[in-house]
Amino acid sequence: MAYSEKKRFIAGVVCPKCSKMDKLLVFSKNDVDYRECSACGFSDQVRFSAVPREIKTRVSRPSEGEGQQVDVITLLDD
Ligand SMILES: [Zn+2]
Repeated sequence: MAYSEKKRFIAGVVCPKCSKMDKLLVFSKNDVDYRECSACGFSDQVRFSAVPREIKTRVSRPSEGEGQQVDVITLLDD
Protein backbone atom coordinates (compact mmCIF):
# COMPACT_ATOMS: atom_id res chain seq x y z
CA MET A 1 0.00 0.00 0.00
CA ALA A 2 1.33 3.32 -1.02
CA TYR A 3 -1.39 5.76 -0.31
CA SER A 4 -3.20 6.68 2.80
CA GLU A 5 -6.76 5.67 3.36
CA LYS A 6 -7.76 9.21 2.92
CA LYS A 7 -8.70 10.07 -0.62
CA ARG A 8 -6.70 12.80 -2.17
CA PHE A 9 -6.30 14.33 -5.53
CA ILE A 10 -3.23 13.85 -7.62
CA ALA A 11 -2.27 17.01 -9.35
CA GLY A 12 -1.47 16.90 -13.01
CA VAL A 13 -2.86 13.44 -13.63
CA VAL A 14 -5.31 12.83 -16.40
CA CYS A 15 -8.15 10.39 -16.05
CA PRO A 16 -7.66 7.50 -18.48
CA LYS A 17 -11.35 7.42 -19.14
CA CYS A 18 -12.62 10.95 -19.41
CA SER A 19 -9.26 12.63 -19.89
CA LYS A 20 -9.97 15.29 -17.36
CA MET A 21 -7.06 16.56 -15.42
CA ASP A 22 -6.79 16.84 -11.68
CA LYS A 23 -9.84 14.70 -11.12
CA LEU A 24 -8.13 11.54 -10.03
CA LEU A 25 -8.15 10.58 -6.40
CA VAL A 26 -5.94 7.99 -4.88
CA PHE A 27 -6.53 6.08 -1.75
CA SER A 28 -5.75 2.81 -0.14
CA LYS A 29 -8.13 0.22 1.12
CA ASN A 30 -7.26 -3.12 2.63
CA ASP A 31 -3.66 -2.68 1.58
CA VAL A 32 -4.66 -2.17 -2.00
CA ASP A 33 -4.23 1.11 -3.77
CA TYR A 34 -6.97 2.50 -5.88
CA ARG A 35 -7.45 5.47 -8.08
CA GLU A 36 -10.76 7.00 -8.73
CA CYS A 37 -12.03 9.75 -10.95
CA SER A 38 -14.29 12.25 -9.32
CA ALA A 39 -15.52 13.44 -12.68
CA CYS A 40 -16.71 10.27 -14.40
CA GLY A 41 -16.65 7.68 -11.66
CA PHE A 42 -13.86 5.66 -13.15
CA SER A 43 -12.02 3.58 -10.63
CA ASP A 44 -9.16 1.22 -10.92
CA GLN A 45 -6.75 -0.72 -8.86
CA VAL A 46 -3.30 0.74 -8.90
CA ARG A 47 -0.56 -1.72 -9.55
CA PHE A 48 3.03 -0.81 -9.14
CA SER A 49 5.60 -2.65 -11.14
CA ALA A 50 7.85 -2.41 -8.17
CA VAL A 51 6.69 -1.82 -4.67
CA PRO A 52 8.10 1.45 -3.51
CA ARG A 53 9.91 1.27 -0.27
CA GLU A 54 9.64 4.86 0.52
CA ILE A 55 6.64 6.89 -0.29
CA LYS A 56 7.28 10.31 -1.58
CA THR A 57 4.53 12.20 0.05
CA ARG A 58 5.67 15.55 -1.12
CA VAL A 59 5.61 14.85 -4.80
CA SER A 60 3.19 17.22 -6.35
CA ARG A 61 3.93 16.84 -9.98
CA PRO A 62 4.14 13.81 -12.22
CA SER A 63 7.67 12.92 -13.10
CA GLU A 64 7.11 9.61 -14.75
CA GLY A 65 7.50 11.03 -18.22
CA GLU A 66 4.19 9.63 -19.20
CA GLY A 67 1.80 11.90 -21.01
CA GLN A 68 4.05 14.85 -21.21
CA GLN A 69 1.34 17.23 -22.14
CA VAL A 70 1.85 20.37 -20.24
CA ASP A 71 -1.27 22.35 -19.83
CA VAL A 72 -0.89 25.54 -17.98
CA ILE A 73 -4.13 26.31 -16.34
CA THR A 74 -4.63 29.92 -15.60
CA LEU A 75 -7.41 30.94 -13.36
CA LEU A 76 -8.76 34.14 -14.60
CA ASP A 77 -9.73 36.24 -11.71
CA ASP A 78 -12.24 38.73 -12.88
ZN1 LIG B 1 -12.74 10.41 -15.41
